[in-house]
Amino acid sequence: MFDSKSSEESSHLEGYYFLNSEDTDPKRIQHERDKARKIKKTKGWQAQLQRGICHYCNQKFSSSELTMDHVVPLARGGQSKPSNLVTACRACNQEKKLHTPVDQILRRLKNGG
Ligand SMILES: [Zn+2]
Repeated sequence: MFDSKSSEESSHLEGYYFLNSEDTDPKRIQHERDKARKIKKTKGWQAQLQRGICHYCNQKFSSSELTMDHVVPLARGGQSKPSNLVTACRACNQEKKLHTPVDQILRRLKNGG
């Protein structure tokens, strides 16, 4: 479910992948989390939950099994807006977290490499 019409937006998507202090500002992230909470109550989001399809594995789940996932993580400049929010099953959500670069770096540090 990629939004092809927002080419204007994707041109600065690249920038989202650089960690900068503005992106990781706890206040901004808190604000985006609040927005996400509100979006969870919208009809659009509820309809997405009802469809019950995980964005990553395309399998069907009951709405209670799905979580809200930010395609571009908040810590990397992602925003809480419908085009950046997808339904993900717990397994995929967990999997995605394990594959973020930050985690990989932390793991490497822990392993002494
Ligand atoms: Zn999944």
